[in-house]
Amino acid sequence: MFYSSNVPVPVGLLIGAVLYALSLAVALSPFGEWLLRLQTGCKKICRTDYLNYIMPLFREVHERARELDPSVPADVQLFMNRMEHDDYRSVPELYQAGCPECGAPLQNDEVWLKRGNTGYFTRAVCPYCGHWYLRFKLSRRDGLHWSFARCAQMPDAESLARWEKLRTAQLERMRAKAEKQAAEK
Ligand SMILES: [Zn+2]
Repeated sequence: MFYSSNVPVPVGLLIGAVLYALSLAVALSPFGEWLLRLQTGCKKICRTDYLNYIMPLFREVHERARELDPSVPADVQLFMNRMEHDDYRSVPELYQAGCPECGAPLQNDEVWLKRGNTGYFTRAVCPYCGHWYLRFKLSRRDGLHWSFARCAQMPDAESLARWEKLRTAQLERMRAKAEKQAAEK
């Protein structure tokens, strides 16, 4: 706290804003996550008997939730002790989806685009039914654990044309970034 009367008000406000920004930066950093884990007693579960106990518990809660609200999806999956932000594009269980029409495995494009603050999507192709958008919505309600909601949506011709444009722009950005990094070395 700053209680000195020698500090003019605008400077005091500025100091306050800077301290607030610093505390936010710390809270959102890996160090902040570590601190939050420590404070909440959040530890990696290593004991197999605990792990074996959690799955039936999860299934029971999921079933009851579905009884209360049928809109809760049937295929909710729990991944223990893992899940990082980028897993939507690096963990096969997340990015390998089946075609909603025929069930054939979808082939994803290598480019993922961001949508909003917490959404990512790519264009996926079913060999029989054509194009889909594979979308993910990320959230981290407790500040520690990622949840991923996934859906496939059939795009229209207009949105596919837009996808091509955005994809080209994204590839261009990635290329420019790589060139810049190479130049700095
Ligand atoms: Zn299909």
